[in-house]
Amino acid sequence: MIKYKLACKNCETTFDSWFASSKEFEKLKKKRLLVCHICNSKTVDKTLMAPSLRNNKKYIKNDLQLEKYENVKKTIKNYQKFIKENFKFVGENFAYEARSIHYNPKKKSKGIYGNASKKDLMELKEEGIDAQMIPWVEDIVN
Ligand SMILES: [Zn+2]
Repeated sequence: MIKYKLACKNCETTFDSWFASSKEFEKLKKKRLLVCHICNSKTVDKTLMAPSLRNNKKYIKNDLQLEKYENVKKTIKNYQKFIKENFKFVGENFAYEARSIHYNPKKKSKGIYGNASKKDLMELKEEGIDAQMIPWVEDIVN
C-alpha cells in the first residue's frame, strides 16, 4: 500500500488516499477514476511537495520566529543566571532595599534584585535611584 496526498485542482482540497501501488494510482488516473471527495471533480492529482510556496514561506517564518524566541529565552536565562549568582534576591522588599542602599553609602551590598511595581520604579527614579526593569522568565523546564 502506498499513501498519496492528493489535491483537487477544482476546489483546492487536499486529502490522503491509499493505493495498492504507484502503478495502480497511474491506472486509476488514466481511467479518470480519481475523484475529489469534496466536489466530485476529476481534476485530482497527487501532490509531490507542500501545497504551495506561500505556505512554505510561512513555515520558514515561523521557524525563524521560534528560533528568535529561543534565542531571546536563552539570553534572558543567561541574564537571570548571572543575576542570581551576583545579586541578592530581596523579593517584594526591592524598593525598600534599593532605598536603604542608596541612602546608606556605608552599607556595602552587592546588587539586588526583586519584585517591584512600575510605581515603585517611578518613585525610585524620582529619588535618583537607578533600577532596571528586566524581563523575567520563570524557571523553564528544558
Ligand atoms: Zn474538489
